Amino acid sequence: MKITNTLSRTKEDFKPLAGNTVRMYSCGPTVYKEAHIGNLRSYIFMDSLRRVLKYNGYALKHVMNITDVGHLVSDGDEGEDKMLKSAREENKSPMEIATYYMNLFLKDLERLNIDMPEIICRATDYIPDMIDFVKGLVENGYGYETSSAIYFDVSKLDKYGVLSGINLDDQKAGARVDIDQEKRNPYDFALWIKAPKEHIMKWDSPWGLSYPGWHIECSTMGKKHLGEQFDIHTGGVDLIPTHHENEIAQSKGLTGKDPVKYWMHCEFLLIDGGKMSKSLGNCYTIDQLIEKGYSPLDYKMLAFTSHYRNKLNFTWEALEAAHISLIRLKQTIAKHKGVDVKTDKQILDDYTKKFEEAINDDLNLPLAMGVLWELVKLDKSDDVYQLAMKFDTVFGLKLNELEEEKQMEVPEQVKELVEKRAQAKKDKNYELADSIREEITSLGYIIEDTKEGVNIKKCK
Ligand code: AMP
Ligand code: ZN
Repeated sequence: MKITNTLSRTKEDFKPLAGNTVRMYSCGPTVYKEAHIGNLRSYIFMDSLRRVLKYNGYALKHVMNITDVGHLVSDGDEGEDKMLKSAREENKSPMEIATYYMNLFLKDLERLNIDMPEIICRATDYIPDMIDFVKGLVENGYGYETSSAIYFDVSKLDKYGVLSGINLDDQKAGARVDIDQEKRNPYDFALWIKAPKEHIMKWDSPWGLSYPGWHIECSTMGKKHLGEQFDIHTGGVDLIPTHHENEIAQSKGLTGKDPVKYWMHCEFLLIDGGKMSKSLGNCYTIDQLIEKGYSPLDYKMLAFTSHYRNKLNFTWEALEAAHISLIRLKQTIAKHKGVDVKTDKQILDDYTKKFEEAINDDLNLPLAMGVLWELVKLDKSDDVYQLAMKFDTVFGLKLNELEEEKQMEVPEQVKELVEKRAQAKKDKNYELADSIREEITSLGYIIEDTKEGVNIKKCK
C-alpha cells in the first residue's frame, strides 16, 4: 500500500511503526457551528483511509479530537475564541454550544456512513494533560512566558517548517509587526493563553487562570492515546502551515522525536471555484443537501469523483450527476443479487487485482469506482454481487440498499404554467410558450423538453 506523505512530498510504501495495528490521529472539527460539506470532505477522506487500511488487514487505533476550546478566529494567535464568539451570538454557554454542534457533527458522520475512530475525545477533558505538556516544554527551554501567554520559541528547534517547507529567514524580513511585542520571534506561537478577566473558559494553571492554545490540544491527546510516535496523522491542507507545523514543533520540543511517520492531507472542496468556509459564510450543510432532495451518500459519491489530493469543485449539477450515478449503480448491482450463475474465477480475480491496485495507489478511489462500474456490467451473477459488496467495504456507500429517486415538490402554480405552455406549443403560439417559460424561470424552476415529456427542475 502506497500513500503520499506530506513530510517527504512523495508516495511512500506504508509500513506501520510496530506490529499490525495502525495508530492514527485525525484533527476533528471546532464545534462552534454546523460542519459544512467542505469539512466533511476531510472526514470522507479519513473514512476511506480507515477502510483501505482495514481492507489490507490492519487493525486500527484511531483518535479524532473535538476542539471545544482554544481555536481563535484567526489560525494564528489572534481574535476571539471561536467557541466564545458563537456562544455570545447564540446566547448560550460555550459547553452548550460545543455539545450541540458536536452531536450534529457526529450525526453527519453517521449519515455519511463514516467508519468511526476508536477514540473520540474532547479537548476540555484533557486540561491537566495539556498543562503537563506545556510545563515540560517550559522546563526543556522551548516554552517562555510573557504577560499574555506561554509561547513556543521556534528558534530553539533545529528546523521549524518541515511540513510546509517555509524558510524562517525569508519570512522574518517581511514579517508584520506582531501584536504581542514580548514574543521573541514572529513565528513563536501560543501554547497557553492567559485569560482576561471577562473570559468565560479558563482553568487554574501554574500561569494563573488561563486556557489552552489550539495546537497543544492535538499534541497532548495524540501522545496520550497513541504514544510519543505514531503512524498517520490526517487533516485538511489548510492545517499544514500552522496547526500541524506547530504540533510537530511541540512534540519535538517535549520528546525530541518526530511524532508522526506519515502526514496525510485532504485538498479543499471549492464552491464556484473559490474557498468554502464557515467564516466566509458560503457553505452548505448536509441538511441543506437533504432539503433539496439529495442523500448524504450522494455527496459521498460526488467526493469519489476526485482524488483526495485534488481540489473538488462543488456544483449542484455535479451533485445531481452523482445522485443519478449512485442510483444506477445500486440498481445495476441489485440485478446481480441471488442470480445462480457462476462467473469465471479468473475474471473476478482480475477485477479484484485492478481494484486493489487502485486503492493501494494512494487511495485512488475514482479509479477504484471505475473498476466497480466495469465489474457490475458483467453478465448477471451472484459472484459479481458478492465482489461488489466486498468493494463497498472501501466505499461505504451502502450499495446493497436501493435508493429512491428524489422526489421534488412542484408548486401548483408552476404545474399550471407548464400545462398552459404545452397548450401554447400545441397551438403553435411559440411567443406565448416562450413568455410562459420565462415566467416559470422567474418562479425558480427550469423546464426542459425531453422525448418523455417536460422535465421540471428547481433553479439552484
Ligand atoms: P475546522 O472545524 O475548521 O477545524 O475544520 C475541520 C476540518 O475540515 C479540518 O481538517 C479542515 O482542514 C477541513 N476543512 C475545512 N474547510 C475545508 C474545505 N473547504 N474542504 C476540505 N476540507 C476542509
Ligand atoms: Zn488538530
